[in-house]
Amino acid sequence: MKVLKFGGSSVASADVIRKVKEIVLETEANKIVVVVSALGGVTDLLLDTAKSASDQDPAYKDGLKKIEKRHLEIIKNLLPVASQSSVLSKVKSELNILETLLEGAFYIGEITPRLSDKIVSFGELLSAYIISEFFRESGLGAVFKDARELLLTDHTHGKAVVNFPESNKRSKAYFTEVQSKIIVLPGFIASTADGNVTTLGRGGSDYTASILAAALDAEELQIWTDVSGMYTANPKIVKQAKPIVHISYEEAMELSHFGAKVLYPPTVQPVLDKGLPIVIKNTLDPQAGGTVITKKSPEEGRTVRGISYIPNISLLSLEGAGMIGIPGISKRLFEVLSQANISVVLITQASSEHSICIGIDDEDAAKAIREIESAFAYEISLGKIKPVIHEKDLAIIALVGDQMKNHQGLSGKMFSTLGKNNVNIRAIAQGASERNISAVIRKEDVKKALNTLHEAFFEVNTKQLNLFILGTGNVGAKLLEQLRQQRKYLKEHLRLNIRVVGISNSRTMYFEEQGIALDKWPELLVSGNKADENIFFNTIQKINARNSILVDNTASERVAAVYPKYLKQSISVVTCNKIACSSAFGQYLKLKELAKEYKAPFMFETNVGAGLPIIDTLKHLMASGDEVIAIKAVLSGSLNFIFDNFNEKTRFYEIVKTAQEEGYTEPDPKIDLSGIDVMRKILILARESGLKLELNDIENRAFLPDEALQTKDNDSFFTVLKKYEEDFQKLVKEAAAKQCKLKFVASLQNGKASVGLEHIPKGHDFYSLAGSDNIVLFYTKRYPEQPLIIKGAGAGAEVTASGIFADIIRIGNY
Ligand code: ADP
Ligand code: ASP
Ligand code: MG
Repeated sequence: MKVLKFGGSSVASADVIRKVKEIVLETEANKIVVVVSALGGVTDLLLDTAKSASDQDPAYKDGLKKIEKRHLEIIKNLLPVASQSSVLSKVKSELNILETLLEGAFYIGEITPRLSDKIVSFGELLSAYIISEFFRESGLGAVFKDARELLLTDHTHGKAVVNFPESNKRSKAYFTEVQSKIIVLPGFIASTADGNVTTLGRGGSDYTASILAAALDAEELQIWTDVSGMYTANPKIVKQAKPIVHISYEEAMELSHFGAKVLYPPTVQPVLDKGLPIVIKNTLDPQAGGTVITKKSPEEGRTVRGISYIPNISLLSLEGAGMIGIPGISKRLFEVLSQANISVVLITQASSEHSICIGIDDEDAAKAIREIESAFAYEISLGKIKPVIHEKDLAIIALVGDQMKNHQGLSGKMFSTLGKNNVNIRAIAQGASERNISAVIRKEDVKKALNTLHEAFFEVNTKQLNLFILGTGNVGAKLLEQLRQQRKYLKEHLRLNIRVVGISNSRTMYFEEQGIALDKWPELLVSGNKADENIFFNTIQKINARNSILVDNTASERVAAVYPKYLKQSISVVTCNKIACSSAFGQYLKLKELAKEYKAPFMFETNVGAGLPIIDTLKHLMASGDEVIAIKAVLSGSLNFIFDNFNEKTRFYEIVKTAQEEGYTEPDPKIDLSGIDVMRKILILARESGLKLELNDIENRAFLPDEALQTKDNDSFFTVLKKYEEDFQKLVKEAAAKQCKLKFVASLQNGKASVGLEHIPKGHDFYSLAGSDNIVLFYTKRYPEQPLIIKGAGAGAEVTASGIFADIIRIGNY
């Protein structure tokens, strides 16, 4: 004998019910017990309709119509016309009774738990009846059996307690008698000794099936649902979740207790002692393997078997100096809650005995607080215990696994993983069985927490990075192109799954939680909403994705000002924008501290020398205990390009224009030519070397005339450059006379920094520096005579984008 249970979504439409028939047909067993749920969604509909009726809202009639329509349509779809009428008339007469009950609730304006059970029982009764008729019609020789005649319970309506001896006796007697091979029964419903309908709790059809399987010593209990087994996490929330092939009863129980709805928690209990296996399978994909639940799960494999969560949790804390050393406080607390029928999902007690903290369903909170405060009224009046502290809108997440007790460091890994993603942990509990570690977090963080924990414990090899990109000019566009090209490589070789979730330029912004198609981003961005800094930030916060990174490809001061806001949300920042790191020292330091505090890297390699690994090298030198003595560098690709190409035969403004067009200068070329850009760079290098320097501490021997520096826009800037052509020519001539080249050099020595044009003689490291190249000489304690030299292309969109790319990968490996 086998017991097969089909859940709501497995009987939601005529098409899936046909699949159910196929599954039953292919089942090999001498007897097949088919337990069914109400048609998908009907239990909720019944409860909502009953609520409207008891609220005296005439809209309950619409609910009733919907319920009627669902059932009649399925009958018409499943049965041949000739055999429809008797089934239709039986169902209609049942619906008439339901209507009368709802009318009663409407006129009285109230609904008792007993009436509620009666009303809700129509869901399972009707579906089981219709399905048994369909089986019979299809030649399966099935009979319908009303489960209320087999399962006996107490009077706790809504979640009745089963009388096992009596239920087992009745079930055995009936199944020994019955001749038919296939018996269809409604799940979820039972009855009291005096014949009132009771229900076994939401999701209780699983329980019906397991009670019957245990009573009848079935070979196997099969739970057919809409997913291919019990997954490592709820597959509707964690896309990377995978079905667990084999799991122990205890693990399955623990996962379902902590919210894995695929199995109703009490289901395991009846079959556990008998060692009867439970198999969870997918009605929509019967070939998929599913999950087998037995006494022991295989010991090899993962320590953490699954992750689950319970939403809508309230934490109640009872605390006060009067609790110390007084025995029996917890006992009294739990007695009060048990008498009020409130189930406690999680308990933590501080070792100081100063406080006890419990996690319960949000819905029970008001009642629980009332009951606790009344039970401890005396102690509260004396000030020995404080009134109950209530925190709501929380959730519990739990890691579950039989082998967890044998492994150290799991909770550390769990909490640091959550911490890195700014998931605040309100309370922690470890089950006595050491089979789970659970934490209470904010409800809004559930999706991020589940995904990030899943990544840490099940996808050890891959890490997903979620990028939010600001600026799609030269650099931004190149970066998006590189990301598109390298996506596959990164996944395969570096195990990094990079998703661009948001893009904004100054006009529009566009988001796609599952990742923006990188071959279509320009069109998608244009179709997006009007760009808005605050909405951009709020959307990122709402998406609340793990490993989020803000990528700033702009040169905007406004954007640089928002980094702290992002870092405080544990969103890393990668930027080629030099403004933040070259602003006031306090500002720079604050960003570094925030990055440390919120474990969100702040990366700005491209601030100096575009893609060249200058800052990274400096960081490594410092970290390994080296000390910078001096730095000499040509740090402006644009100025190097300009002075490399400017000679007695060319004209200065034309060369500057070409440099601008090639993307070698900042959008405002004055920033380069005035020396400001190089000042910022040497300032950043000085700071990274450990010096507390400000921009105006740096000496700038500017070569531009004041008039050029005063211009307000690029056009007037170029006009002034034309005007001063002779002066520029003079600079070249002076250098040429000494057989020198002009280079704009940044220096740092003895704690002082300066920038300015210098005459570079032949043979000097800088002399042959061509094009837009940069060069940095680091003189350090370890490199005192022969400096450590970094040299290469130091400007241009392509190399800057690749520098940003490298920072993103560094974060990925963080
Ligand atoms: P049925 O109607 O068949 O009883 P349920 O909705 O009660 O189905 O349970 C199946 C659902 O449980 C899945 O669709 C999924 O959303 C949810 N679920 C939650 N956690 C898990 C998990 N760890 N594995 C599989 N499903 C899960
Ligand atoms: N129909 C009931 C519910 O929705 C029981 C079940 O589906 O298991 O809760
Ligand atoms: Mg269910």
